[in-house]
Amino acid sequence: MKQVAVLGATGSIGDSTLAVIRRHPDKLKIHSLTAHRNSDKMIALIAEFAPKRVVITDHKAYKAVLASGIAATTECHYGADALNDAVQDPAIDLVVAGIVGNAGMASVMAAVKAGKTLLLANKESIVTAGSLVMPLAQKTGAKIIPLDSEHNAIYQCLPDSYRIGERPASVAHLTLTASGGPFWNTPAAAFKTITPAQAVAHPQWDMGAKISVDSATLMNKGLEVIEAHWLFSMPVADIRVCIHPQSIIHSMVNYVDGSILAQLGTPDMQIPISYGLGMGQRLANDAALLDITALGQLQFYPANHEKFPNLNLARQAIEMGGTAPAILNAANEVAVAAFLNEEIAFTKISDINDRMLNSFTVEEVESVSQLIEIDQMIHQQTTKLIKSLG
Ligand code: NAD
Ligand code: MG
Repeated sequence: MKQVAVLGATGSIGDSTLAVIRRHPDKLKIHSLTAHRNSDKMIALIAEFAPKRVVITDHKAYKAVLASGIAATTECHYGADALNDAVQDPAIDLVVAGIVGNAGMASVMAAVKAGKTLLLANKESIVTAGSLVMPLAQKTGAKIIPLDSEHNAIYQCLPDSYRIGERPASVAHLTLTASGGPFWNTPAAAFKTITPAQAVAHPQWDMGAKISVDSATLMNKGLEVIEAHWLFSMPVADIRVCIHPQSIIHSMVNYVDGSILAQLGTPDMQIPISYGLGMGQRLANDAALLDITALGQLQFYPANHEKFPNLNLARQAIEMGGTAPAILNAANEVAVAAFLNEEIAFTKISDINDRMLNSFTVEEVESVSQLIEIDQMIHQQTTKLIKSLG
């Protein structure tokens, strides 16, 4: 029986993780759950899973959970520090990192420091702190299993002996597939009037609002190039992106002998999540099985970097090194929130990212506290820039 901590239990990754865990009560047990604002959902999850511990990071939600009169067998804690303490509990075997945004970084580091097996969905932590997380995992022996569908696909296509963080042998390059989001085929001239509702309506994947907008701007793929760079120790030049609108092939490994290995499946996060939770054993889940004969055709196109400048910005950030990816990620978080709030146009997201990435001195990455400081500073500066744009 594996004891599992689910960080971000009330989100989209949380939902898919809990759905897999529900099907395997003989193998997987919830130890801890965390959430930010959604107290009602957390109260229901406590009643269902009777976790040993829950952590709520929003004070109002924490008070609401306490006031609901949860069973005395569940400890309830408040705050970001409690989150970091909770993941280090020696009783926990698997930590699922499903918090959205840079808010997930410190708990990822804490889990790696404690040598846990980390099922990693929170890509922002690797994008900003990859240079800290990966060497720390080597040192503590923490095992990282990527849940992001592309990285999980690549991981599944690498040999069993492969250790994450090392450059895989005999690999010429990696091919990350991208659905292209709702607008890959829309003329750039029509981009200005895209609404938040159109941008979050992803054609293939049902995800949280932030990552759905990132898919529409292709920033998600840009962040995934950076994520792949750190997880698989590959130079960005050897990480290619291809548009594959059906989202059936989740990514590919191109070996030096010309063989390409790919992982296929319906676009459902329960597939990579059950691979992670199974730790080498295949676990059944609720995802629809793929009927290959019903597919008809699979299509592949080159990604249009001019139409989606975020792709180039992500590559540029890795070339700039140090804190550049952290600057890009923080600027993008603010720009996406402003777009969702109808404060800026869709096309402004990449403009703002570009301006922020090229306005600050890049430093060497030294610590989580430095990255948190930079994140806060870029949040403030990006907010200021957006205000000045009117
Ligand atoms: P979501 O918005 O649906 O859920 C986010 C979760 O994080 C919620 O449980 C929320 O309570 C928690 N949270 C939000 N702000 C927080 C804060 N400040 N402190 C602590 N907890 C906080 O997001 P999601 O779509 O589930 O995505 C989660 C992560 O997984 C993201 O990094 C995303 O890029 C990545 N990811 C998601 C998918 C997907 O299919 N949803 C696929 C690949 C990768
Ligand atoms: Mg992905």
